[in-house]
Amino acid sequence: MSVLEVDDLRTSLLIGGVERHAVREISFAIEEGETLAIVGESGCGKSMLAMSIMGLLPAVASVTKGHVRLDSVAIEADPERAMERIRGARIGMVFQEPMTALNPVLTVGEQIAEPLRDHLKLSRREARKAAVALMEKVRIPSAASRYDSYPHEFSGGMRQRVVIALAIACGPRLLIADEPTTALDVTVQRQILDLLDQLRTEGRMGMLLITHNLGIVAGHADRVAVMYGGDLVETATVRALFSDAAHPYSRALLASLPRVDRDLSELASIPGRVPTLANMPDGCRFIDRCPHAMERCQAMPPPVELSGARGHIVRCWLHVAGSNHAARG
Ligand code: SF4
Repeated sequence: MSVLEVDDLRTSLLIGGVERHAVREISFAIEEGETLAIVGESGCGKSMLAMSIMGLLPAVASVTKGHVRLDSVAIEADPERAMERIRGARIGMVFQEPMTALNPVLTVGEQIAEPLRDHLKLSRREARKAAVALMEKVRIPSAASRYDSYPHEFSGGMRQRVVIALAIACGPRLLIADEPTTALDVTVQRQILDLLDQLRTEGRMGMLLITHNLGIVAGHADRVAVMYGGDLVETATVRALFSDAAHPYSRALLASLPRVDRDLSELASIPGRVPTLANMPDGCRFIDRCPHAMERCQAMPPPVELSGARGHIVRCWLHVAGSNHAARG
């Protein structure tokens, strides 16, 4: 059963009076207990996609097409207060920098207890007990005695555990983790990712994992979606992507990685840069960096094509039957 369905989603911004599409007709689904990783270089639209799903877009941006469904119910049409309830209870969020998610003047225990009282209507005493249990669940040592500590008294890794406790407090159906370990050292990264895996499995949650790091994808995701210039250019199982990537951008990413644990932001071997929103090509957005570009790639965006088994999807004219493969002049 799909926990999350994103169907033909488009997010637009007005730049200089012109409507630009930061997310362009994206569709995917996440099943119960599944992790879908979204990968791509900085500026490729990953976080804009996450914000579109969560209803947290900046004022200049809006969803202008498509649907987002949580457990088959459309959520994008909800008024803001309803969206706030969904975010607190049915969608949990973990961001890169835990300090931005925590209130420095409230104790960590009070912050975990707050959604339990707001959404689950627990009494103060019940919420305290449940918050301590959550702190134990995310393996914060001496949880009961640390309930009254403030965020600044925790290490970065422990703060991220607090944020995870907050995110899962009300038993969400979907966890969105946006670069959840980028600010942490390697050992702590692994512990946090293992914890997220365990909680996702136990809670039968779907997880949308946004990351720069293909090592994290290899170790912690079931399927992967590659984004470029606001398009989903390829979606596949992790195994299929690593063994049989079809899109020139996915292949370039993988070929650039002598080691899969390198960060995509460090890559220098794909010539050129991700286009800015103001300079997005009308056709394929990878055209200026693609060694296989053809006339057709310039004229119109490639359609989505099924490539091989198990829902392996690619968006490239090279994989469209009957396409003219004449090289661009
Ligand atoms: Fe390259 Fe054309 Fe495919 Fe885009 S559609 S990735 S330019 S071959």
